[in-house]
Amino acid sequence: MTTANLLEFDLEGLAAFCEKLGEKKFRATQLFRWIHQRGASDFAQMTDLAKSLREKLAGTARVEALPVLSRHESADGTIKWLFDVGDGNAVEAVFIPEDDRGTLCVSSQAGCAVGCRFCSTGHQGFSRNLTAGEIVAQLWFAEHFLRKHLKRDERVISNVVMMGMGEPLQNYSALVPALRTMLDDNAYGLSRRRVTVSTSGVVPMMDRLGTDCPVALAVSLHAPNDALRDDLVPLNRKYPIAELLDACRRYLAHAPRDFITFEYCMLDGVNDQPEHAQQLIELVRPRGGQGGVSCKFNLIPFNPFPASGLLRSPQPRVLAFAKALSEAGIVTTVRKTRGDDIDAACGQLAGDVKDRTRAAERMAQRRLTEHTVAMHPARRAAAAPDVQEH
Ligand code: SAH
Ligand code: SF4
Repeated sequence: MTTANLLEFDLEGLAAFCEKLGEKKFRATQLFRWIHQRGASDFAQMTDLAKSLREKLAGTARVEALPVLSRHESADGTIKWLFDVGDGNAVEAVFIPEDDRGTLCVSSQAGCAVGCRFCSTGHQGFSRNLTAGEIVAQLWFAEHFLRKHLKRDERVISNVVMMGMGEPLQNYSALVPALRTMLDDNAYGLSRRRVTVSTSGVVPMMDRLGTDCPVALAVSLHAPNDALRDDLVPLNRKYPIAELLDACRRYLAHAPRDFITFEYCMLDGVNDQPEHAQQLIELVRPRGGQGGVSCKFNLIPFNPFPASGLLRSPQPRVLAFAKALSEAGIVTTVRKTRGDDIDAACGQLAGDVKDRTRAAERMAQRRLTEHTVAMHPARRAAAAPDVQEH
């Protein structure tokens, strides 16, 4: 008999599952705490649950993490895990420690269908959506691993950013229960302000998120006009900039923060010129009857990969761009890259996977190899946005 993986459920889902077993709803809260707060996966450990319930659970349910293909730790404390999600697909989660917070960058899909020009995940195409349990499993595993590893009793991960592989708003039905588990006081108890969904601009789903589960929002803008954005972020052809900015304004009415973070990947000679900065300023400043968009900009150093045909903007140009935005009154940060030394190990990581992979799985191998290129280093830098409390 197949058993249910309890990592799939938010508290409401777990309560429904318990009711089906003929158990009182409040048992779900106890169970939820054991799983997420204590990191328990063995029902026998859950001593305050009746023995009869533990036995019932053992026959019908499981708490199953994702198999870890590899873990790499940087000298600066950044840790990345590559998780196996079956059929030769792997996804990555990255922990970025800072003085006042610990951020986990989480994946939402194996591959991505949006196909942005500067993104290696986009180049590799779409494999499948992760389930809610597979999204939560990245946090569950990382949090409890880190507590042991760092010998800490209290919470290590204070922030989650959905900036790993995939477009979270194209996996909405799994994203929402996963977010609810992250926010739940009986699980991780993360503040809405410290959970960030990053999107390339799936306008209808931004509206739904604002109603269903408002968390901090980052929008991958990357271009100041439709002609350029159509080319860099193909989803722009469906939801052009004006519609995207309207969706941002609507989202702000629900958002836990009073600004949207715009991510802007600096591409040499493509979107990094002074006129692009001016166009951005015009886009977000109030005009005529139209209100502006309350926002901050994060300029991301591009992580080049050969198939993109694109290059990273030189640092002086990035700084000049940042200065232009700042002088127009827009709070702008330039992301620092983290964990550069483990990026160097990316090739090795792909090699490890290859060694263990049978020849018949060559396709899968290729995807894994590409993926290890996909996330670094700038995307990891992208995973450390300004999600600090103010
Ligand atoms: N699909 C979502 C979230 C995942 S991508 C989105 O696009 O927002 C997370 C961030 O990494 C996005 O801002 C994305 O534009 C950026 N990114 C992707 N590839 C990159 C690269 N090669 N260099 C720098 N940033 C990159
Ligand atoms: Fe997908 Fe985001 Fe990469 Fe674009 S940047 S292809 S939306 S993961």
